[in-house]
Amino acid sequence: MSEAAALTGRCQCGAVAWRAPAPMLWAALCHCGDCRRAASSDYVSWFGVPRAETLWSGPRAFYKSSPKVVRSFCGACGAPLSFETDIFPDETHLYAATLDDVGAYRPTAHIFWSERLPWVRFDDALPKHPKGLQHAAAQGAALLK
Ligand SMILES: [Zn+2]
Ligand SMILES: [Zn+2]
Repeated sequence: MSEAAALTGRCQCGAVAWRAPAPMLWAALCHCGDCRRAASSDYVSWFGVPRAETLWSGPRAFYKSSPKVVRSFCGACGAPLSFETDIFPDETHLYAATLDDVGAYRPTAHIFWSERLPWVRFDDALPKHPKGLQHAAAQGAALLK
């Protein structure tokens, strides 16, 4: 992986950093209740990267938020860092807000739009899928690789 083709990011305190190859596999804004609670945020700007090629440094902590899902966060500052699920075993999902270069992020869709908070408003033209990635893909959306 060349320097130019790498995505990099870090937590709030800088103790944990990650590095993954570009381009992102997909990029979408998730409004589901699980993501919202895990991040304490109105919604989460996610993207996917190849799990085997994603490198981590620093004191990460892990939380199994459901039987098939492990989320990680910084063990020092607590910033949320990743989502991994057995449903997408080759992918790690990262928070766009942790990117060193946030300009590298171009979301292509909203997912779990049906669960959005009442005060969340968007006037973009992106597709707004009522459910998640798998459901959107089943409807023919090009969210997945
Ligand atoms: Zn930290
Ligand atoms: Zn979600």
